[in-house]
Amino acid sequence: MNEKILVIDDEPDIRNLLATALLGEGYEVVAAEDGEEEIARFREIDPDLIVTDVKMPKKSGLAVLQTVRGSGSGVDVIILTGHSDEATAISCLRQGAYDYLLKPLEDIDVILMSVKRALQKRQLEKEKIALMGRLEEMAVRDALTGLYNVRTLHAALDEEIIRAERYTHPFCVLMIDIDHFKAVNDTCGHPFGDYVLKELATVMGRTLRTTDRLYRYGGEEFLAVMPETPPDDARRAVDRLCEAVKSHDFVQGEMERKITISAGGAFFPFHAVERAALIRLADEALYEAKNAGRDRAVFAPLPQE
Ligand code: GH3
Ligand code: MG
Ligand code: MG
Repeated sequence: MNEKILVIDDEPDIRNLLATALLGEGYEVVAAEDGEEEIARFREIDPDLIVTDVKMPKKSGLAVLQTVRGSGSGVDVIILTGHSDEATAISCLRQGAYDYLLKPLEDIDVILMSVKRALQKRQLEKEKIALMGRLEEMAVRDALTGLYNVRTLHAALDEEIIRAERYTHPFCVLMIDIDHFKAVNDTCGHPFGDYVLKELATVMGRTLRTTDRLYRYGGEEFLAVMPETPPDDARRAVDRLCEAVKSHDFVQGEMERKITISAGGAFFPFHAVERAALIRLADEALYEAKNAGRDRAVFAPLPQE
């Protein structure tokens, strides 16, 4: 898509000169005679660059610049100013203008060069922002399942502890592990094992409540944080989870397989009020579930039990 340039100048000759030159270079041009209206809807116009005159009857170029900068938009502004008013231009630069061009605009190549450089800079910035976003996602998400990874779990769990303390609501930490997953890999192959992990994340994700959060804890281990969930609710939710997994057909190509999961749970604040202890107790309960024959959930014993 062509880059869009918003040209603002009250002098028709200059506006036309710029518009023609920029259109000739293949840019899309939105021309305006005064900054006032265009700048009010500049988000909607969504230009990649603004070229604006400084002296205009309604809204000055400096005001345009300040509005754009103040909006937090990364769009660059090139200022057009008369030879006699270079001081204003320099003040615009100080306030974040990308460049200034002196009128009369004699050498169109100088203008086009400035425009090109500003757009290139903007493009690089956009790529950098997109890349940073992707890197951030990669740092917090598990590549295979798309679930949040264990790095984000610790901070989220500490936050949940603070919230639960404030509202005195219990929550449940559930450690989940696939039963005999090694056998799935051994008989169906590692790629099918990968598919099972991915599919399981989807099945569990849609079975849990939307407020529950699911993390990939390790290889074939998952951890769910279930806010505002007292023991009775948690038991029902986990039974539902085990049942949903058990009844799901994991199918990929010719390959088909059923799996079961085991789960271990611990509650804030009944078992522990600290992140590490909650995880450890859930893990120990999971171990109990495995020993008791798998395909079940075990919760750490409550004081009255
Ligand atoms: P148990 O019921 O006692 O949990 O038996 P298990 O076979 O699930 O337990 P074990 O911990 O011995 O084996 C886990 C297996 O999970 C071994 C490992 O190769 C496999 N695994 C871990 N991460 C991945 C992964 O990302 N992809 C695949 N395909 N397999 C994985
Ligand atoms: Mg396992
Ligand atoms: Mg394991």
